[in-house]
Amino acid sequence: MKAHDGMYIDGAWRPAVGTDTIEVVNPVDEQVLGRVPAGTAEDVDTAVRAARAAFPAWAATPPAERAARLGALRDVLTARKDEIAETVTAELGSPLSFSQAVHATVPILVAGSYAELAATYAFEEKVGNSTVYQEPIGVVGAITPWNYPLHQIVAKVAPALAAGCTVVLKPAEDTPLTAQLFAEAVAEAGVPAGVFNLVTGLGPVAGQALAEHPDVDLVSFTGSTAVGRRIGATAGAAVKRVALELGGKSANVILPSADLAKAVNVGVANVMSNSGQTCSAWTRMLVHAAQYEQAVELAATAAAKYGDRIGPVVNAKQQARVRGYIDKGVAEGARIVAGGPEFPREQGYFVQPTVFADVTPEMTIAQEEIFGPVLSVIPYEDEEDAVRIANGTVYGLAGAVWASDEAEAVAFARRLDTGQVDINGGRFNPSAPFGGYKQSGVGRELGAHGLSEYLQTKSLQF
Ligand code: NAP
Ligand code: MG
Repeated sequence: MKAHDGMYIDGAWRPAVGTDTIEVVNPVDEQVLGRVPAGTAEDVDTAVRAARAAFPAWAATPPAERAARLGALRDVLTARKDEIAETVTAELGSPLSFSQAVHATVPILVAGSYAELAATYAFEEKVGNSTVYQEPIGVVGAITPWNYPLHQIVAKVAPALAAGCTVVLKPAEDTPLTAQLFAEAVAEAGVPAGVFNLVTGLGPVAGQALAEHPDVDLVSFTGSTAVGRRIGATAGAAVKRVALELGGKSANVILPSADLAKAVNVGVANVMSNSGQTCSAWTRMLVHAAQYEQAVELAATAAAKYGDRIGPVVNAKQQARVRGYIDKGVAEGARIVAGGPEFPREQGYFVQPTVFADVTPEMTIAQEEIFGPVLSVIPYEDEEDAVRIANGTVYGLAGAVWASDEAEAVAFARRLDTGQVDINGGRFNPSAPFGGYKQSGVGRELGAHGLSEYLQTKSLQF
């Protein structure tokens, strides 16, 4: 696998100040794919200076020209789709078909949506005797995780660039090769030097330095709630804008009128895809008591079919973490109906697709984000009970509702304390706002809502 031994700063690949490196490991066979520099606070500072220097000219670039660069970026991502899918598969471990269909494809849609938005967004409007301008907020520090390595980068960088901001990105240590490919794509798309900069490195070193840098105007973070909380506190102390996309524990609510088999099968597929490493995964399946045993059986059968078809989780730490949660589920009295804690292979960070029955809403596996292929099936008594259970976690990122009648599902969805709800299996929309209620985060990504995160408002009175 190709790996750059430098950082992409101010339009060129430059050596890091220090000599430390990060090993990139293939989660399927545990082989080292390559090494990238482990950046330090000095590298972050160099990158932030480059972003600051590039800001005035990029902010003053007409939106149509920024749109043209984003259109070119979309085209480069399209041309290099296969290479992107192979790179994500190598460092994340997801099956190549999934990398092609999702990891490499969604970023093209998102980049394309921002090419269009940059060209059409109302950056200026009249309000009575005022003219209100939407101006770029400045230098953005973007910190991203490994689970959708390119999507999470594009969901921050594309709107930031569309808004006229400049960016320093610190990607996850597990998936830096995808980030390096993205930097190449930005260069190929003709984005001016310094507008986008990449510093690879460790979270507590490079990530923290970026979040704390006084010349960063907005920190946009996706990852764990624990780190997000600290980044929010740091940003608060500096009176700095912050956007946080954090964890989830979403409910898939199957109302009695729904097509049970379809709802269960789609629900299981949702949790197992990407080996359960999806913040918006519907990891709690809520089923009416009268249909509970039937649903459990359907879910167990569906999960067993996945067997070896799902990829590993990203690293040994996540593998151990997921097993810890499965052990905890058993210890707290839940019943395994598919999978289990034993690792299915000697090599690679594989976890069995696992389904728990007899889960009560207060169990650890029903409250905490597991981030692995583990589903909890929970019975409810009536609609009120279902609402209470669905809303009964600290999270509120996503969810699903199934009913024979769309209006019934919508009425229920409106009662959920969550940022996104899929109705009867609804399709992904790359322009719909994505983000969390409660401790799932602050702010929204994607579409026009995602663009507005990178803008600040000025009004002139006449
Ligand atoms: P994480 O530590 O929060 O990682 C997210 C990003 O933040 C990475 O780039 C990480 O760098 C960086 N980071 C870590 N510590 C930091 C700090 N002190 N200051 C600034 N940046 C920092 O998440 P993780 O350890 O990869 O995963 C742990 C759990 O988080 C998962 O099991 C899952 O529950 C949750 N998670 C949620 C999402 C989501 O999309 N909501 C995504 C990933 C993980 P490193 O890569 O060097 O750690
Ligand atoms: Mg980490």
